Amino acid sequence: MQLDFGETQLLPRVETFAGPILVWAPDEPVFEAVEASLVGAGHTVRRLEDDAELATLSQGDALLVAQCGPRLDVQQAFLRGPFVLVEAGRKPSVALAARAYGVVAEPGDVGYAVDRFVEHRRLAREVAERRGPPRRCSRCGRGFDARKARGAGTARRFVRFGAISLCGTCVEALRTLLRQAQAQVAVVEADN
Ligand SMILES: [Zn+2]
Repeated sequence: MQLDFGETQLLPRVETFAGPILVWAPDEPVFEAVEASLVGAGHTVRRLEDDAELATLSQGDALLVAQCGPRLDVQQAFLRGPFVLVEAGRKPSVALAARAYGVVAEPGDVGYAVDRFVEHRRLAREVAERRGPPRRCSRCGRGFDARKARGAGTARRFVRFGAISLCGTCVEALRTLLRQAQAQVAVVEADN
């Protein structure tokens, strides 16, 4: 007997990093190595051209890759979004390193740190979504209605098993199938 789970699959949301990775690297060879590493890892890059851009564009959701040095130190108070630091021969201050998502010594290694960041953000969003209310039953596709779920009757209640959500009717149907399966097992045992 097959339990009919997952007829309507909850599609996992595929997380793509929205927009390019911002790169602040005043030294040309450092920028080129960072760009090659990021493009090699499948990301697009936007280079921040001057200090004003660094101060204004690093405020949002986008990930910034920044080369350590005196110019970054001057602007660090403006860094609001997530960032990865590239040492390239200059250690960041302890305070700045503590705020960074990651610190890499070599510009060519930044692709790995950015991949880790993207993966962590994807997992964090998945967890956040799982904590929200279920959207529909994984078995029959019935939509979840929070107001009806609070009312009387079990048919509108949803039960969650990890990533699978089931409406009350499907939970009842599965219970019935399980009882039938158990009854069949009992019959087989009695025959022996
Ligand atoms: Zn259902």
